[in-house]
Amino acid sequence: MTFRILVPDAKIVDARLFDQAGRTGVDFDLTAVSSLDELSDDQVAACDAFCMFSVKPCDDAFIERLERCRLVVRAGVGYDNVDLEACARRGIAVANVPDYGINEVADHALAHMLNMVRGIRLFANRIQNEGIATGWNWQHGVHNRRTYRRRVGIIGLGRIGTAFARRCQGMGMEVWCYDPYLPSGGELAMQVTRAETLEELLGACDIISVHVPLSEETTGLIGKDAIAAMMPGTMLINTARGPVVDIDALYDGLKDGKIECASLDVLPVEPPDPEHPLIKAWLAREPWIDERLTLTPHAAFLSPDAVDDMRNKAIHLIADYLEGKPLKNCVNGQLLADKDRR
Ligand code: NAD
Repeated sequence: MTFRILVPDAKIVDARLFDQAGRTGVDFDLTAVSSLDELSDDQVAACDAFCMFSVKPCDDAFIERLERCRLVVRAGVGYDNVDLEACARRGIAVANVPDYGINEVADHALAHMLNMVRGIRLFANRIQNEGIATGWNWQHGVHNRRTYRRRVGIIGLGRIGTAFARRCQGMGMEVWCYDPYLPSGGELAMQVTRAETLEELLGACDIISVHVPLSEETTGLIGKDAIAAMMPGTMLINTARGPVVDIDALYDGLKDGKIECASLDVLPVEPPDPEHPLIKAWLAREPWIDERLTLTPHAAFLSPDAVDDMRNKAIHLIADYLEGKPLKNCVNGQLLADKDRR
């Protein structure tokens, strides 16, 4: 029996890479669309599994069209763009691939932190923009700080938060975390200080790195109130999901100086709206924000090895399940069980 896996991301996933995975009994319907609406009804109805890399969202209306499908896989960590309940209602399992780029994202968060505290982008800009005569001047380094024994606060001590924590500990930093779902003792195993509330963490650490999933609870977690609770001169890093940081509040926090510098790999809307005041001011290189904000284009996960791992792990997870092996990384198991009980 041959199973059909529909993958609408041929723009980012090369067909040859699928061939190299060497799974027999699996047909890939690899197609390039920019919206799931562009897929034909026959194509959607015929697939046994659906695998999404970047085309989204997988919402109720799309799931309705998945007639044969038994599994939806988000080839990545975040599955905030898949309607888990709608899938469960139709008996479709949902899984993610959480273990392809943990170290890349942790490296990226660290790179953002070091860029801020060592002034890398700032110094390079000054040299290029002002010329050697005035740009070659260490006194431009107004944001430079010592990290040794400095506190860093991690929001969400999961896989990536832990990988980031270990890097910071290796540099001699004092690591704190806020994660209400971390089992008791997790902080002792990691030798980090646990804050019981977000406010406690924000009041104790002036470098903050966000590593939570996007959920109702985490949307806008770093907003006006959180920024008010921060230490003066906080440096903020977000490599998790854009909507976790309210960028209107961030604009105000940077403008009034409460936040000294911010580094974002993710934004609430991607690519960002060039007319949003934060983005507009930064693109225009307004002096108050130019060297205090750094953006990267949702690239924290990126390395050729991570992309290979993401693809291979997704393919093997799907093929194993369709062949009758247990499903790895199921993220709607409880919803499926609730539906079966009803
Ligand atoms: P994870 O599930 O292992 O860890 C998330 C942690 O956040 C968990 O420990 C959880 O208990 C904690 N958490 C949940 N809600 C919280 C809350 N309200 N307050 C504080 N902590 C909370 O996930 P992960 O693999 O470490 O990934 C973290 C996030 O990074 C993902 O959800 C994804 O959105 C993002 N990510 C981004 C990129 C990128 O390229 N920028 C790549 C991969 C992952």
